[in-house]
Amino acid sequence: DSPKPSNFLRQVIERDLEQGTYNQRNWGGGPGDAQQHQAGDRDPAKIRTRFPPEPNGYLHVGHAKSICLNFGLAADYGGVCHMRFDDTNPEKEEKEYVDGILDAVKWLGFSWDANGTEHLYHASDYFDFMYRAAEYLIEAGHAYVDEQTPEEMRANRGDFGRPGTDSPFRSRSIDENLQRFREMKDGKLADGSAVLRAKIDMASPNINLRDPTIYRIKTAEHHNTGNKWCIYPMYTFAHPIEDALENITHSLCTLEFEDQRPFYDWLLDRLAEGGLINTPHPRQYEFARLNLTYVITSKRKLKQLVDQGHVSGWDDPRMPTIVGLRRRGYTPESIQLFCDRIGVTKADSWIDYSTLEGALRDDLDPKAPRAMAVLDPVKLVITNWDELHGAGFLDACSAPVHPHHPEMGRREFKFGKELWIERTDYEETPPKGFHRLFPGNKVRLKYGHVIECTGALRDASGAITEVQARLVPDTKSGTPGSDAVKVKGVITWVAVADAVKAEVRLYDRLFSVPQPDTGETDFLEELNPESLKVVTGYVEPSAAALKGDDKVQFERHGYFVGDRKDHRGGGINPIFNRAASLKDSWAS
Ligand code: ATP
Ligand code: MG
Ligand code: MG
Repeated sequence: DSPKPSNFLRQVIERDLEQGTYNQRNWGGGPGDAQQHQAGDRDPAKIRTRFPPEPNGYLHVGHAKSICLNFGLAADYGGVCHMRFDDTNPEKEEKEYVDGILDAVKWLGFSWDANGTEHLYHASDYFDFMYRAAEYLIEAGHAYVDEQTPEEMRANRGDFGRPGTDSPFRSRSIDENLQRFREMKDGKLADGSAVLRAKIDMASPNINLRDPTIYRIKTAEHHNTGNKWCIYPMYTFAHPIEDALENITHSLCTLEFEDQRPFYDWLLDRLAEGGLINTPHPRQYEFARLNLTYVITSKRKLKQLVDQGHVSGWDDPRMPTIVGLRRRGYTPESIQLFCDRIGVTKADSWIDYSTLEGALRDDLDPKAPRAMAVLDPVKLVITNWDELHGAGFLDACSAPVHPHHPEMGRREFKFGKELWIERTDYEETPPKGFHRLFPGNKVRLKYGHVIECTGALRDASGAITEVQARLVPDTKSGTPGSDAVKVKGVITWVAVADAVKAEVRLYDRLFSVPQPDTGETDFLEELNPESLKVVTGYVEPSAAALKGDDKVQFERHGYFVGDRKDHRGGGINPIFNRAASLKDSWAS
C-alpha cells in the first residue's frame, strides 16, 4: 500500500499521538457519573472517531466521504471508529433506515468491531446522563429556565451587528431554576412554554454563544425511550456529550458546525470542571462537505424524490445513495478510491461528477470481463455465407475475457449468416472520416472475419431493415494471414444464432444542471427528462450468463452491471444497467 497523502486531520492526529494527548486521560474522579455512563472502552493508546448519522433516510455519497474519513483514519492509526445513531430527536424509529445505514457502512468495507467489541451506540441511551448534566449546569449557575415566548427570545438574541438582551428570567435563583426544570421534565409545562438555556454571554460576537437552548419540551414518544421523556436535548448539547461519554478523541464534522465549536468546548469544559466527563475532552475538527455536480446530497430532498415517484426508490440507480450507487454498478473500492482522490480540506468546493465516474472506470477497467453487446440492433446478412460454408453453418469464435489478463480465460461465441450490428455502424453515404459499413467498404467484425458491405434493404418508410455484406475468405481473426486484407474499421457484433435478448437501462444524470440544489429554482424543475432510456439489445452468451451485481464491459459501450433486483441470472431475460460510459461525458 502506498502511504496516503497527508492532510490537516492526519497532521492533528499524528501530533496528538506523538504528544500522547490522550494517553493520560483522567478517568472521571467527580461524582462518578462519568464512570457509570462511560460507553467507550478505556484503551488510551488509540484514536477514537465516530460516524453519527441520524436514522432518517438512506446514506448518500456525502456520507460516504464522512465514513471513509472516520473509519479510514481510525484504521490507519490503530484506532477505533464508533458507529453511532444520533437519535436524540423523538421520531418514529425507521428500522428500514437503521438497517440500511448499517448495511451501507459494511458494504463500503468498514466495521465498528474492534478486538471483538462492537462499537455500536445510540445517542438516546445517554438521555439520563444528559439530564444529569443539565441539572449540574443549573447547580453550577451555568443554565437557566427561560419562559420568554419564542418571539421574544428571537428578538432578544440580537444579530450580527447588535448584541442580545438578557432575558428577564436570566437572573433566577438556582433553586427556582432546578424546580422549574424538574417541572419541565415532569410534564407540568406545555410544549414551547419554556426552555433550558446555557448561561454564557448575550453580547458574544458568536451568536451561538448567546445563551443557546439546550433542552426543549416536546411531548412526543421516542422509539427507544418511549414516553419516559417529554423534554429532549438539543443537538448542540447532545453531540459533545455523546462524544465525551464514548471517549472520542477527534470529532470530525462538516464546516457548518465551525461556529458551534466554541459551545462544544464551553460545554465540555464545564462538565469536566464538575467531574462529569473524562479529560482531556474530545476536540471537534471541521472539514468541507462533499458537493458533487449534478447531484443532490440532502436526505430530505432525496426522500422527496422517492416519495413523489420521480425515481423508483432509494435504490434507483440514478440516486446518489449508497444503495443507488451499488445498484448502478459502483463497487466499494471505486467509492473509496473516489474519497481518497477528493481528499479532505477546509475549503468548500464542488467536485465534478466525472471524478466519481473516473474512479469507477479505473476500478473496473482491470477487473471487469469484456463482452460484446449490440444496443441499437439492425440485422446484418452475409450474402455469400451459404455458398462459402453451407446454409446453417455456425463458425466458432473466441476472445479473451480481458485483454490484459489471459488468466481470466476466453469467451466463446458463434459467427453465422445473420448477425446483429449497431444501426449507427452503417451509412449509405458516409460522412468524411467514417470507416465503418458503407457500400464498397471493408471492415473487420471484431474477433471474426473481414466483410465487404454491399448495401442495405429498406422498408416502405425508408427505414433500414437489413444491411448486407459479403465475407472475405481467409480473414478470420487469429488464423495465419488473416490480416493480409487491410481495413480501417472494426465493429462489434453478436450472432443471431447465440445472442441473448437483453433489457438495457441507459442511465444519464438525474439533473440537467450542474448545481440543482442552489435554491434559486425548485430542484424538481431541474430533473433531466432523459435520465433513463430503456432499450432492447442483444448480448453475447458469456454476458447473458452473468449474475445480478456482476460487472461487465460491453466493448465500445461502457461498464454495465446485472441489475441487483431484476436480473435473474441463468441467461434468462438479462437486465443490465449502464454504470458508466467508456469516455468521460460529464466534465464541464
Ligand atoms: P442530510 O442533510 O443529508 O440529512 P446530515 O448531515 O443531516 O445530512 P447526518 O445523518 O446527520 O446527515 O450525517 C452523518 C454524518 O455524515 C455527519 O457527520 C455529517 O457531517 C456527514 N455528512 C453528511 N453529508 C455530508 C456531505 N455532503 N459531505 C461530507 N459529510 C457529510
Ligand atoms: Mg444531521
Ligand atoms: Mg440533515
